[in-house]
Amino acid sequence: MTNAPGPFSDRYSRQELFAGIGPQGQAKLRGSRVAVVGCGATGSSLVTLLARAGVGNIRVIDRDYVEPSNLQRQSLFDEHDAAESMPKALAAAKKISAVNSDVHVDGVVADLTPANANDLLGDAQLILDATDNFETRYLINDFAVQQNIPWIYMAAVSAYGLTMNILPHETACLSCVFPAAPQGIVETCDTAGILNTAANFVASVGATEALKFLVGHTDKLRRSLLSFDLWSNDRSEIATSKPRADCPTCGAHQFPYLAGEGRPHITLCGRNSVQIHERHRPISFPEMEGRLSPHGRVKHNDFVLKFWHDDYEMTLFPDGRAIIKGTTDTAVARSLYARYVGS
Ligand SMILES: [Zn+2]
Repeated sequence: MTNAPGPFSDRYSRQELFAGIGPQGQAKLRGSRVAVVGCGATGSSLVTLLARAGVGNIRVIDRDYVEPSNLQRQSLFDEHDAAESMPKALAAAKKISAVNSDVHVDGVVADLTPANANDLLGDAQLILDATDNFETRYLINDFAVQQNIPWIYMAAVSAYGLTMNILPHETACLSCVFPAAPQGIVETCDTAGILNTAANFVASVGATEALKFLVGHTDKLRRSLLSFDLWSNDRSEIATSKPRADCPTCGAHQFPYLAGEGRPHITLCGRNSVQIHERHRPISFPEMEGRLSPHGRVKHNDFVLKFWHDDYEMTLFPDGRAIIKGTTDTAVARSLYARYVGS
C-alpha cells in the first residue's frame, strides 16, 4: 500500500507518475530515514521538499533560533517564530506536521558534535549537509566515511551555490576535494549576503539527488562538484568520481574531527556572536529568570530564555548551551556566562 485511503490518498499521484519514482519508489521513500544538519535557508527548503515528497523519517538538527533577518530566505519560518525566538528545529517540525502528517520530522535543538554524532546521524541512510561552517562539514565527513553513510555537501552564499554527493569509498570525499578548510576570511551570509534563490537552487539539486538515492537509482547520482552563480550564470563542474589515493580521511582512515581533537568548547558563530557549549547543565528557566532579572531584561518561553545586559544579548537553551550576541571576544562571552549562569 502506497497510499492510505482517505482525503489525501492521491497526495503522491503526480510524483508516482514520474517514471524515475513510480509507486515502488514512493513506497521506498515512505520507509526512508534521512538526517538534515542545519535548518537555515538550505535546510528549510530541503526539509520542505523531502517532506512533501513523502520521505518518511526526517531528523532535523539545528542549534539556532529564528530571527527577523532569517525570514527573507528560510521558508519554513514566519513572523511569529521570529517574535518568539523559536528554535529552528522545533519550528520546522511543527510546520511540517501541518503540511504532511504522513511523515515524521524529529526536530533536535543541538549543535552537532563528536559526542552526539552517532546518536543523531547513526541511523540515517543519508545525511544532508545544510550547515554554514566547515568544522561541522568535516565532522560529518569523518563520521560518514567511518560509518559508510552517503552524504550530500551543500553550500550557498551570495548568488552562489556548491554541491557534491559523497558515496564513501566510491567517490571522492570532502577531504579529497578540500584537504583543509579555507583559511582567513571566508565569505558568509552575514558578510556577503545571500539570495534566497541561491539556497533554494542548491536545495533543489540536493533534494533531487537524495530522492534518486533513496529510491535506489544510484546510477543516476551526479559524480561531480557542481557550482553555479545564479547572478553571473557562471557554472562549473569538477569530476569527483574517484577518491584521492592519498586522502587522509577515506584513504588512511584518520578521523580527527570525529575524535574532537582541538575542538573548542566556545565557538564563533558568525554575526557578531559567540556560542558556549562546554557543559550540559539542565537549566530551569523560571529560576534563571529570578536570578537574572535584577541585572537586565529577561524573557523566556518553554524553549529559550533571552537576557539583555549592557550591549549584550544572551540566549540560553534548556541544556545550558548559550549564544551571546554583541561580541566576538570569547573571553568576554565566557565571563558573562560565568557571572550570570555559572562557571
Ligand atoms: Zn577522501
